[in-house]
Amino acid sequence: MSGPWDEQTDVVVIGSGAAGLSAAIEAEAAGASVVVLEKMKVTGGNTRISDGCLSAPNNFLQKRMGVADSPELFYEDLMKAGLGLNHPELVRIFAEQASDAIDWTRDLGVRYLDRLDRFGGHSAARGVTIRNNAGVDIIKAQRKKLGRLGVTIQTRSSLVALITDADGMTTGVRVGCGHDPSGGIRENTKNIRALRGVVIATGGFGGDVGFRMRQNPRLDETVSSTNHKGATAEGLIAGLKIHAMPVHLSWIQLGPWGCADEIGYGRGARFASYSIYPAGVVVDPGTGRRIVNEWGDRRQRSDAIFNTGRACIGIVDSKGAELDPDSLGHCLETRKIRKFKTIAGLGDAYGMPDGALEKTVADYNRSIEDGKADRFGKPLGRDANPIDAPPFYALGIWPKVHYTSGGLGIDSSAQVLDLHGRPIPRLFAAGEVTGGVHGASRLGGCALPECIVFGRIAGRGAAALTPWTSAEPRA
Ligand SMILES: Cc1cc2nc3c(=O)[nH]c(=O)nc-3n(C[C@H](O)[C@H](O)[C@H](O)COP(=O)(O)OP(=O)(O)OC[C@H]3O[C@@H](n4cnc5c(N)ncnc54)[C@H](O)[C@@H]3O)c2cc1C
Repeated sequence: MSGPWDEQTDVVVIGSGAAGLSAAIEAEAAGASVVVLEKMKVTGGNTRISDGCLSAPNNFLQKRMGVADSPELFYEDLMKAGLGLNHPELVRIFAEQASDAIDWTRDLGVRYLDRLDRFGGHSAARGVTIRNNAGVDIIKAQRKKLGRLGVTIQTRSSLVALITDADGMTTGVRVGCGHDPSGGIRENTKNIRALRGVVIATGGFGGDVGFRMRQNPRLDETVSSTNHKGATAEGLIAGLKIHAMPVHLSWIQLGPWGCADEIGYGRGARFASYSIYPAGVVVDPGTGRRIVNEWGDRRQRSDAIFNTGRACIGIVDSKGAELDPDSLGHCLETRKIRKFKTIAGLGDAYGMPDGALEKTVADYNRSIEDGKADRFGKPLGRDANPIDAPPFYALGIWPKVHYTSGGLGIDSSAQVLDLHGRPIPRLFAAGEVTGGVHGASRLGGCALPECIVFGRIAGRGAAALTPWTSAEPRA
């Protein structure tokens, strides 16, 4: 090894979540040698702790169950939720390739439930969920494949800086070894030469209070997050330092199903997502009234709850609770969910004005029974059930930082763009570290397939480049 390089490979992938491992598999399968760097002790990032739901039009279950959908409809839903800030060429690629991404995970051995879900903001039931809600199964399957391909992952190895030559071409990375998430202690640094390309897949910055407050000062340490500890901004900052284009950084998504009595993401959040929002109502305890379309997109719902200034109460009856009986059981045991014989008793327990909650529920039920349009626009079609079967369940809901829509700007080849919108030679990015696909708000189940779609594109793109021959690195 000559010069200041300590190691060399064709492609360096930074980050071992769904995006990074997808890139690594494709690059290695295309004949490139690959090194994956992961700063934490364990691999998988937010992907590892995710619910494992993937939304895609024309996915295998929709086809089997005869559910009509299309990439065009999906595209429109994404653009609507994103307030049209989304970059159309990226959304189109995602809409067209999302279903293939799911099939790819099935080929890798990931198994799905026989169930289709419809989440807020989607015009069709298009969410498929990995068995046991285990996003980690994607990581396990990807790691197995990488093992077979002979790729190792260097853990506790943190990207410190991207190395470029005098013309701005990315030639390698500086890595801090022995990374410690609590103190950032590093044993030493080393430089890895990347002969074909570098893929940044370091995920979002939802857990980086300092960085996120610079984008949105309301999101201080009092607003908790669902993210893993390593969801910080260094990967993004490394890109910005070499003049990558920042896109939509201040669009930070709050999960409207955050449970007020739970740390991080937990079973209460899952119950709210799978049971309360589809089959129940969310009310402001100060008025006993509903505040939002419970099937609106995440931004609409989170904003409505935030605007009340207090934790709201999600309510569902025993029929609706059957949508997620496991989480219900868990949350009753841990007292995050409370059980009531009557709606009046539930309203009293939370100090709601006399009779207000009964009226709210009666109005909601009447809309369903009469087939009338809901006043908040919740689509209460033929499948909707009135809230009338005791016992009734209540969960305190307060939004949590969940997802960062913004990040590094990329083009349709997943190449990182510079401040003039030109691709930075040999630098790629994919997954939550990028910005542009989701705009103002990401819809449920749309991150994981997007990470896979663009991770695969990035890995193939980097592997396809001819190795560069000489350049003096400068950090
Ligand atoms: C609780 C929870 C549930 C979710 N459920 C779903 C769901 O069901 N469906 C869905 O579509 N989306 C879901 N999401 C969102 C989705 O999981 C993430 O957006 C997605 O997993 C991001 O993947 P990624 O590969 O971009 O990043 P990650 O999976 O976060 O991986 C990035 C990796 O990079 C590492 N890293 C960071 N900085 C550095 C550095 N400087 N050097 C080296 N390594 C670094 C991190 O430690 C991490 O391991 C959920 C998110 C959370 C938090």
